[in-house]
Amino acid sequence: MYDYDLLVVGSANADLVIGVERRPAAGETVLGSDLAVHPGGKGANQAVAAARLGASTALLARVGDDGHGRLLLDSLRSAGVDTVGVLVGGAPTGVALITVDPSGDNSIVVSPGANGRLAPEDVRAASSLFHASRVVSAQLEIPLETVVAVASSLAPDSRFVLNPSPPRPLPAVLLAACDPLIVNEHEAKVILGDSAIGDDPEDWARILLAKGPRSVVVTLGAEGALVASRDGVSRVASVKVDAVDTTGAGDAFTAALAYRLGTGASLPEAAAYAARVGAAAVTREGAQVSFPTAEEVDAL
Ligand code: ADP
Repeated sequence: MYDYDLLVVGSANADLVIGVERRPAAGETVLGSDLAVHPGGKGANQAVAAARLGASTALLARVGDDGHGRLLLDSLRSAGVDTVGVLVGGAPTGVALITVDPSGDNSIVVSPGANGRLAPEDVRAASSLFHASRVVSAQLEIPLETVVAVASSLAPDSRFVLNPSPPRPLPAVLLAACDPLIVNEHEAKVILGDSAIGDDPEDWARILLAKGPRSVVVTLGAEGALVASRDGVSRVASVKVDAVDTTGAGDAFTAALAYRLGTGASLPEAAAYAARVGAAAVTREGAQVSFPTAEEVDAL
């Protein structure tokens, strides 16, 4: 009855990466390595992660009519993502300009470009995609009003998963649609605001849940995650791996969790699977290229 296990609505960026000895100060020019260009953006990352696991996946996004847009469309299609919802034009493709020094510290400038032009009307015009999708996931690298439109465009039986990244305070109507809201420590703290919270992630999960989401997941890096719903709060064990690069771990986790919820898994079951996917992703360099297949997750 559904054509897609998962519809991702979100950003697609070209990540332009240059290695430098030292990141430049104001007014300074430094020489760096050859430029590396990688497909990225949280929306495209989640879509690629889900498709690689075998989920039938569509992406609703906007890229520019330019080389970076074509690079993104190619990487999505080669991962098996349906790009029928990827709109082209209106502004240049979003880019992240990233300089990385030998210690791994980076400085990043993001130009949202076409991502900033993904509008509520684009969401309304894609209603057939919403009606064809069991689960819809979103992040916050597109305009907030577009994400609010996503939450009000869901088919009656489909489920909404939000990773509010980059974090900002969320309107009640959006919080109420989340099942679950997925946050890391930093995102939890921003969404909870200054309401003096302690150091216990179980408390953050409970306080977040009281703000309206039907369920909450807090990701804890190498410590795993925890899930919270009306049934209570429970821990999701971490999977021990040798971490090489944690870029994209949260995107892989969210995509895997959303996909498994759509196949009928309970929230703790889906989160346990997602923790394995996140762990597999950190064993390899890069974002999209580090995302595992279902066979690689089983072998972990
Ligand atoms: P984000 O990238 O959004 O900050 P996290 O770093 O919490 O998200 O990672 C998401 C999930 O990926 C974690 O909940 C965990 O399951 C898995 N993960 C991340 N880092 C590691 C690690 N070093 N070892 C094992 N699993 C990890």
